[in-house]
Amino acid sequence: MIADNLKSINERIANALAKAGRPADSARLLAVSKTFPAEVVREAYDAGQLCFGENRVQELAEKAPKLPSDITWHLIGHLQQNKVRQALQHAAWIHSVDSSELFSRINRIAVELAVTPRILLEVNISGEESKFGLRPNDVEEVVAKNLEGPASCVGLMTVAPALASETELHKIFEGLRNLRDKIQSNLKTSLPELSMGMSGDFEIAIAEGATIVRIGSAIFGHR
Ligand SMILES: *Cc1c(COP(=O)(O)O)cnc(C)c1O
Repeated sequence: MIADNLKSINERIANALAKAGRPADSARLLAVSKTFPAEVVREAYDAGQLCFGENRVQELAEKAPKLPSDITWHLIGHLQQNKVRQALQHAAWIHSVDSSELFSRINRIAVELAVTPRILLEVNISGEESKFGLRPNDVEEVVAKNLEGPASCVGLMTVAPALASETELHKIFEGLRNLRDKIQSNLKTSLPELSMGMSGDFEIAIAEGATIVRIGSAIFGHR
């Protein structure tokens, strides 16, 4: 069943890319495996999926060692300062960096661990009070302050509100893309990745330029 779900999601991604006039390989599927045990992740791996997203560091640290080492793990949930070391031991990508302090700490610990994580800055485009993420106006400064590495900022991420209309979703995803374009040109740096779109809205995100869609329930079922 997971193999069938993956196949159908990959087809929908391909169709959405074609409809947007984008190249077939210009968006990747991140399978969000949070709350599902290693055996279930293994099923998706056996069906060919190699990129997985987790939103809690503890759960990632428990699951990753039980699974093949050619999996690329992405941390997509809020990251606390005191969990950075553990996160970097497993995750090659972190989508949820929301302050310059956190980014600096990731850089310090990445030096110690000799790793080169890819970082996306989480942006609260919709301005919802309850949401994590940087305010759009603060993002450029965080990128500018952290150009040195070894952690490299490769793009931006956002989570759209659960109940947004199609029109609102287009606006939110377009807003993230426009912000990325503006920062790229102001800082003369490259930010190729836009992590946006989940099970309920990924086709809209692809129409607006998503390069990574984070899909959980449409692959693994309800949590
Ligand atoms: C859980 C989660 C997802 C996946 O959500 P689905 O609706 O199950 O596809 C995507 N992004 C983040 C940040 C999540 O926490």
